[in-house]
Amino acid sequence: MARSNLDEIRVDISVSPRVNSFKPPKIRIISDQAKALMEAGVPVISLSAGEPDFDTPAAISEAGMNAIRDGFTRYTPHAGILELRQAICRKLEGSSQENGIAYTPDQVVVSNGAKQSIVQAIHAVCSSGDEVIIPSPYWAAYLEMARMAEASPVIVPTSTANNFLLDPKLLESKLTERSRLLILCSPSNPTGSVYPKKLLEEIAQIVAKHPRLLVLSDEIYEHIIYAPATHTSFASLPGMWNRTLTVNGFSKAFAMTGWRVGYIAGPKHFVAACGKIQGLMTSGANSISQKAALAALGLGHAGGEVVSIMVKAFKERRDFMVKSFREMEGVKISEPQGAFFVFIDVSWYYGRQAEEFGVIEDSESFCRFLLDKAQVALVPGSAFGDDNCVRISYSSSLTTLQEAVKRIKESLVPLTTRPLVSSH
Ligand code: PMP
Repeated sequence: MARSNLDEIRVDISVSPRVNSFKPPKIRIISDQAKALMEAGVPVISLSAGEPDFDTPAAISEAGMNAIRDGFTRYTPHAGILELRQAICRKLEGSSQENGIAYTPDQVVVSNGAKQSIVQAIHAVCSSGDEVIIPSPYWAAYLEMARMAEASPVIVPTSTANNFLLDPKLLESKLTERSRLLILCSPSNPTGSVYPKKLLEEIAQIVAKHPRLLVLSDEIYEHIIYAPATHTSFASLPGMWNRTLTVNGFSKAFAMTGWRVGYIAGPKHFVAACGKIQGLMTSGANSISQKAALAALGLGHAGGEVVSIMVKAFKERRDFMVKSFREMEGVKISEPQGAFFVFIDVSWYYGRQAEEFGVIEDSESFCRFLLDKAQVALVPGSAFGDDNCVRISYSSSLTTLQEAVKRIKESLVPLTTRPLVSSH
């Protein structure tokens, strides 16, 4: 088609410096390459998924379909339909006593996914220059969300040896009068670690000493937890209710990633501010998904039988992965207690020369090597702030995991006899 003279008018294609400052998600580096290989017909096994491999339970989908049939397809209140917020309050305290935290519906805002809840919470409470304390390894979005709100992320490292749990003393040493928000994620993405109640109590004592400090407790993997580990909601600890923003959602435990429903609960002044932002951005969450979420909460304590079947499958896979990687030379692993990830330290392999590949330098080249040799896609730990490790999602069938482990083993074994060619 011929271009008109109007097309020649020069357009300023610059975008805001704020957007330019956002770092592209490293989590995609390997998965994009893996996708391209798959499209070219290479039988790649991708263990990079951040979502369950199960279908949304039928009762939940049915409620969504009924919502459409019933014409429940209009705008809802910005904070979410009252019956869902009431059900969330019952879940958070109520008869089922899941979390032991009392909220009223006006202290809850339902969003289009927990991600939206978190970004709104950070914007609602942080001013420019405030510090957001993020234990590493972290879910990378926290960092960019903090930057988006013109806050400064302050990273507090943890280690494999310590099951990736925060050292309260180290946390205390990082706090200043500018510290505004501590983000805790338990069970954790990417490590699968679960904070024991005693450790949370120690953290709460430190938080209590800092009047400006709030806690965002990301509990989205709450139900995907393996006994004897148990989940403690930070807001349920003495003195912490008025300091805590509790975030949860339906994506993980109920296999509802595409439905986009999450929520925040907390003191009304903070939650109302979150609602104000949401009112400007997206209004209420998807009406159909809210009905589906209501059905999910209707499944009973911790998602009832339906969720426990999924969790049982995840546990079987977790046990298989831990056993397999414990047997592998040069791998350090701390047994995850929740979520569906293992986060293993593979730095022993760094500095080793691989045939027809070159030297494995870091977590990214380790993943590139495995994609090349084993045709297995993992996520480099550098995407989560820990370059010694890689994240393996076991959100795939046991048979797929068995094949992936076999391929990884076959690729790594020849490296174990290779001398180090560079030091790390
Ligand atoms: N928190 C964590 C730790 C996550 O891993 C995710 C999803 N990857 C979310 C929050 C957001 O979940 P959603 O927006 O799907 O509810």
